[in-house]
Amino acid sequence: MAKVGETVLEIDLRALEHNYRYLRSKIDPGTKFLGVVKAFAYGSDSIAIAKKLESLGADYLAVAYTAEGVALRNAGIKLPILVLHPQQVSFATMIEKCLEPSLYSQAIFSSFLIIAKELGQKNYPVHLKFNTGLNRLGFGEKDVDFILDTLEGADQVKISSLFSHLAASEDLSEKDFTVSQIRQFEKISSTIMSKLGYRPHRHMLNTSGIINYPEAQYDMVRSGIGLYGYGNEAAEDKKLIPVGTLKTIISQIHQIEPNESVGYNRAFVSNTPKVSATLPVGHADGIGRQYGNRIGQVWVNGKLAPIIGNVCMDMIMIDVTGIECREGDEVIVFGKEHSAEQLATSAKTITYELLTGISQRVKRIYIA
Ligand SMILES: *Cc1c(COP(=O)(O)O)cnc(C)c1O
Repeated sequence: MAKVGETVLEIDLRALEHNYRYLRSKIDPGTKFLGVVKAFAYGSDSIAIAKKLESLGADYLAVAYTAEGVALRNAGIKLPILVLHPQQVSFATMIEKCLEPSLYSQAIFSSFLIIAKELGQKNYPVHLKFNTGLNRLGFGEKDVDFILDTLEGADQVKISSLFSHLAASEDLSEKDFTVSQIRQFEKISSTIMSKLGYRPHRHMLNTSGIINYPEAQYDMVRSGIGLYGYGNEAAEDKKLIPVGTLKTIISQIHQIEPNESVGYNRAFVSNTPKVSATLPVGHADGIGRQYGNRIGQVWVNGKLAPIIGNVCMDMIMIDVTGIECREGDEVIVFGKEHSAEQLATSAKTITYELLTGISQRVKRIYIA
């Protein structure tokens, strides 16, 4: 690869293809695959990722909010798009843009029915979300009668799917809890299906669910983090390829004498001579202050170099003492050579947060 000469997020669409095929191999050929592209496709580029997933034959996409779905439609994405967490104010826009809402409460459900009727809809596809233990969003078992009564004669919508979300699919010590969520979903969804007169799709697995509970794949699975190359466990990480690599460059090297300091508030001081390198990436790019002061490390010519001092808005300084490097050399903040999982864990956070935090200021480049 040619050197990039500035801070970029390199997005490897071949890695996405590999991850997609790997995750698909974990489920039955007839099971549908929904690619989760919320939050700029986990901090990468939702349009590029959605286009690639569309070309690979994914069945569905999901975003969190309506505006994210509108951006995909405006870019020409044709796949059905599930909006996981819409608000009432955006329902008319959703219908205009053919975006399918997750309906998760009596109030949201009733209000969508009113707007769909006003806009003259027939059989508009909607998805009902059930809370089976995450206690975040979703109808409960107690709402089933309300749902069935409300649907009576309401032909402006058609239930496209029933779904739920696991609270701890990556944590096998919570297996009993997960199994109880699956049972609860089975119970609620069977009741609804027996009364509806048609068969909506059912789905409940995220990436770790696909890996750990394939028996609960039902008609569709919803994968996000796995598509981007992370499996929430070391054995799976080995089979997946990181899609995003955050690359930067050494802008300047300084020889730091004993008792000199580096950075704001003089947070780094050494009593021995050091060599520091300054990189054009900071907290405004998504590398938060929690990575400063030797917590996070980056990859310089095959060696790990700790971030020293406080992370600035537009820069970090790293300790390259003993590492052969020069101004202009490429540095990998995270990616294939140095995983985002490792960097995130060093600061006691998760890959999801590190990836989705990469700001829109960082230029995206693509390997097609
Ligand atoms: C974000 C999200 C997913 C994707 O989860 P991953 O762990 O990234 O695979 C699936 N379903 C719902 C409801 C989500 O909010």
